[in-house]
Amino acid sequence: MDKVEVAEQDALPLDAIAPGVIGLRIVFVNVFAVTHPDGSWTLIDAGLPLSAHRIRQWTRENFTSPPNAIVLTHGHFDHVSEAGELAGEWSVPIYAHPAEWPYLTGREEYPSPNWKAGGGSMSLMSPTLPKGPVDLTGRLQPLPPDGSECPVMPGWTVLQTPGHTPGHCSFYRAEDKTLLVGDAFCTTRPESFFQAALAQHTELHGPPSYFTSDWAAAKVSVRKLAALEPRVVAPGHGKPLTGPDVASALHRLAEDFERIAVPDNEK
Ligand SMILES: [Zn+2]
Ligand SMILES: [Zn+2]
Repeated sequence: MDKVEVAEQDALPLDAIAPGVIGLRIVFVNVFAVTHPDGSWTLIDAGLPLSAHRIRQWTRENFTSPPNAIVLTHGHFDHVSEAGELAGEWSVPIYAHPAEWPYLTGREEYPSPNWKAGGGSMSLMSPTLPKGPVDLTGRLQPLPPDGSECPVMPGWTVLQTPGHTPGHCSFYRAEDKTLLVGDAFCTTRPESFFQAALAQHTELHGPPSYFTSDWAAAKVSVRKLAALEPRVVAPGHGKPLTGPDVASALHRLAEDFERIAVPDNEK
């Protein structure tokens, strides 16, 4: 069977997000590359199924050597699907929080999506989306505890931000207040990724609702991120945002989280 790979027009480079931080939007999910002072770099998340060639092409355009590691925000299929293939090719480890390991080693599947969570095409198609299990056994390395420096990302702190998934992590560079948030929250309405891709706006939204398992924890995580007063946020879904308004938009999301983020059938 021929593989229907992600087409070039469905991959959009996201340049100059912050010093040494670039991204690539593939269909509706972003991956990021973070360059370190010694010239090494790290890939954050690893995309949808059938997107490895897009990630590979983008990394070749931007780097002359493979990354030092792949670091995962969490284990959902749209963030990890090409991790095994790329890590094998590059001979690099894959870092993820130990609470995500059951979903990354083929031992457990995430809970079924709450497909009544909201309108839009993603919610309608979510029952058919793969939700695991992937098996990255042999490559996985544990991310260190909350508040520690990421071992392969000098200057970046690992922040545990559970709720969307049990071991979801965000990554924060205090030096310039840059925050990689995975799916802790989105900058586009997450139930409508496909529509939003056409006309993205800059309002903040909660985590993708049909896949979020613990809304109380998700709220605490957003509060924790808002308290950092970030200047740059780079999410798994939606545009990276920068500027003085970012922190206040995040505070508004944290304060009004139930209304903005929690779906009616989870309240
Ligand atoms: Zn997710
Ligand atoms: Zn996602």
